Amino acid sequence: MFSRHEMQELIVVDGRARGVVVRDLLTGEVETHLADAVCLATGGYGNVFFLSTNAKGCNTTAIWRAYKRGAGFANPCFTQIHPTCIPVTGEHQSKLTLMSESLRNDGRIWVPKRGSDTRPPDRIPEDERDYYLERKYPSYGNLAPRDISSRAAKQVCDEGRGVGPGGQGVYLDFAEAIGRLGEDAIREKYGNLFEMYERITAEDPYRVPMRIYPASHYTMGGLWVDYNLMSTIPGLFVLGEANFSDHGANRLGASALMQGLADGYFLIPYTIGDYLARAPHTTVAEGDPAVRAAVNSVEQRTARLLAIRGKRTPTSFYRELGRLLWEDCGMTRNRTGLERALQRIPPLREEFWRNLTVSGEAGELNQSLELAGRVADFLELGELICRDALARDESCGCHFREEYQTEDGEAKRNDERFCHVAVWEYAGDDRAPLRHEEPLSYEAVHLATRRYKCCA
Ligand SMILES: Cc1cc2nc3c(=O)[nH]c(=O)nc-3n(C[C@H](O)[C@H](O)[C@H](O)COP(=O)(O)OP(=O)(O)OC[C@H]3O[C@@H](n4cnc5c(N)ncnc54)[C@H](O)[C@@H]3O)c2cc1C
Repeated sequence: MFSRHEMQELIVVDGRARGVVVRDLLTGEVETHLADAVCLATGGYGNVFFLSTNAKGCNTTAIWRAYKRGAGFANPCFTQIHPTCIPVTGEHQSKLTLMSESLRNDGRIWVPKRGSDTRPPDRIPEDERDYYLERKYPSYGNLAPRDISSRAAKQVCDEGRGVGPGGQGVYLDFAEAIGRLGEDAIREKYGNLFEMYERITAEDPYRVPMRIYPASHYTMGGLWVDYNLMSTIPGLFVLGEANFSDHGANRLGASALMQGLADGYFLIPYTIGDYLARAPHTTVAEGDPAVRAAVNSVEQRTARLLAIRGKRTPTSFYRELGRLLWEDCGMTRNRTGLERALQRIPPLREEFWRNLTVSGEAGELNQSLELAGRVADFLELGELICRDALARDESCGCHFREEYQTEDGEAKRNDERFCHVAVWEYAGDDRAPLRHEEPLSYEAVHLATRRYKCCA
């Protein structure tokens, strides 16, 4: 077990994954670990948006370096935004907190009907409130799926009806449930969540409605894998959120943990054995040119990051990238915004490599250096996400292109052109990546359009 080690490079020998190069985060030492196959279970890349519900340690580095060694990256634009998070409070926040989805079982979501209504919630009478999910989706109401609830919250806030500082919030109100079930029953069900909310916001949700807003939460995209969980690099297996499999454009239910468990318990023990039985039995030495090259690339990159000695911190680049992606490739996207993002990311990346400042040295615990490496990868991944979103000229699950919607604002798919997985192949730093299509064919079930407007 090597905790506090970050994988920074994949070792590929004769076209097969044969190990990883890691940096010991405590000492800075660069180590190689050679093997017959490699499994990555390094999670999703939701932190590309800077603010997200993910732990700060989540990043894209492992899968991104594997992508640059030849692993296909599938559907990067399929990113899930969770509707039930505590709103952003200011510039210097580094993380967002998820309030459990279960709260929507009893909480009612609303905003004032009138824009710029600054009255406290208890002064806004019932007939001046818009319970917009209940109004738009009478049969699902406040339990409408994540993508739909998130977009609906964005819409009312864009209309100027958002609540709280900055107007980027909607109410999640338990007054009716407390009246119906009693405070004790609500405390029994959600007491820990209410306490957490109060500690963070200093507001008591038993007395005033919670305020929530959507935040980046999960990524359906990831490294492409086959049914054996093997990527396009033989011997590189990818498990859990790090791969693209199972959830399609929209992870509707709480199934990420099930996917991780299924991958780890039921699939990989069998499929990796099958691979090992068939793979040629060769030994790779530390001195192998491919191993040396992988180590050199890690060391050179670290040295390059430290040598820039510019004026902007990794966090400042990270925050700018995240905001840009959130605005132009977040809950909704359109061609103009995506093209703008694709114009703005390359100069930002260029400035990063010219004007970054990283404090400390390589051979020590250096969190500034760690972050710089991750931001460098996010700056490349962010561009791929926008490319993918631009190429997918349809709305599909969490990927909502404003140009492609029905008259009542629902996602409009184009199955004729886009019923496929988009798999991106790295083609070099100075060349556009190649887009491949893996057709989706349905046999047992048939493609249908989700409808939440009525119960029929
Ligand atoms: C707040 C929150 C609540 C959630 N609630 C639910 C829920 O109720 N139900 C559900 O099904 N799902 C839920 N999810 C989603 C689910 O938790 C994740 O999808 C799941 O944990 C992913 O598991 P994983 O093992 O693939 O990756 P992770 O759990 O993210 O683990 C990846 C690990 O790899 C490490 N790592 C990353 N990069 C490197 C590297 N380069 N080198 C070495 N190590 C690296 C990370 O530090 C991390 O420890 C929730 C997610 C969040 C953020």
